[in-house]
Amino acid sequence: MSQQLVEPEGMAFGTPYPWVFVDGAFVPAEEARLSVLANVVSYGTGTFDGIRAYWNAAHQELYLLEAAAHYERMRRSARILGLDLAVADPVPATVELLRRNGVRRDAYVRPLLFLAGEQLAVRMHDSETRFCVAATPVPGDYIDPRGVRCMVSSWRRASDVAMPNRAKVIGSYVGPALAKSEAIRNGFDEAILLTGDGYVAEATTSNILIRTGTEWATPPVTDDILEGITRRQIMDLLGERFGLVVTERRIQRSELYACDEALLCGTAAVVVPVVEVDGRPVGVGGPGETTVALQRGLQAIARREDHRHHEWTTPVYEELT
Ligand code: PMP
Repeated sequence: MSQQLVEPEGMAFGTPYPWVFVDGAFVPAEEARLSVLANVVSYGTGTFDGIRAYWNAAHQELYLLEAAAHYERMRRSARILGLDLAVADPVPATVELLRRNGVRRDAYVRPLLFLAGEQLAVRMHDSETRFCVAATPVPGDYIDPRGVRCMVSSWRRASDVAMPNRAKVIGSYVGPALAKSEAIRNGFDEAILLTGDGYVAEATTSNILIRTGTEWATPPVTDDILEGITRRQIMDLLGERFGLVVTERRIQRSELYACDEALLCGTAAVVVPVVEVDGRPVGVGGPGETTVALQRGLQAIARREDHRHHEWTTPVYEELT
């Protein structure tokens, strides 16, 4: 019997904004067509990224969070795939896209670089590539910020010898998608994936950090994770605000059961406390104190309610300098 999957309330992102940026021009979304024969549709040959824009009503300003870092990662992803992100600096085009769409609420920006050619062959070379950026409103939370109950997935991260994990490859999201559905079907909120050899890697679309006693740890970038930009921000904030150094080291599954605090972090998730893993409470079974402080701290930076780290945000309506 098939079980219906119901998305938690507020999780759905809104209707896409009407203008998209495609190959250097702003076009109405309904004109930005892609052939069903496009190579990417069959084989997932391309890379994507996700950038958040945060609305500050008091400032009447929209701030892009870490846009340059996301495009830098996309450029690296492209390099790994042998593709070329031809636009020298996509940030101004992204700012213009948000302005054209008159975005005055939290939004999610979706850049894509993919093989649009119609060749049947499975290969990365000699194909037409396209680069586009679209945006959708974010009406609610991607994942419940009050805390998630996780399961360790039966699906594992593909190893870097099979899939370049530090590239955000379109086709590589089938594994995380299966893991997410497995978790929801089993009554959990989110899945944690292990590496092929059984060490903790990350959740479906977010990185993981755990605290045991006073030690914060996170899997190293060589353990088949996507190198999250939020992960780096959290490591910076733990250092600056709490004087803590995060150890990047291999983490065993049983550490998830024994740790005192755990969090997931990513552009969509932001910072989310892990309150349970495989039915075992994490710490006291509620959001960790430091996690909640990081959650608030990062949001305040993202909306420029905090005077620190303005270099992480780009104002959309102010003139670009
Ligand atoms: N891991 C995976 C597999 C992801 O898709 C994401 C989201 N991009 C992350 C981690 C978190 O990365 P970031 O903080 O850059 O969004």
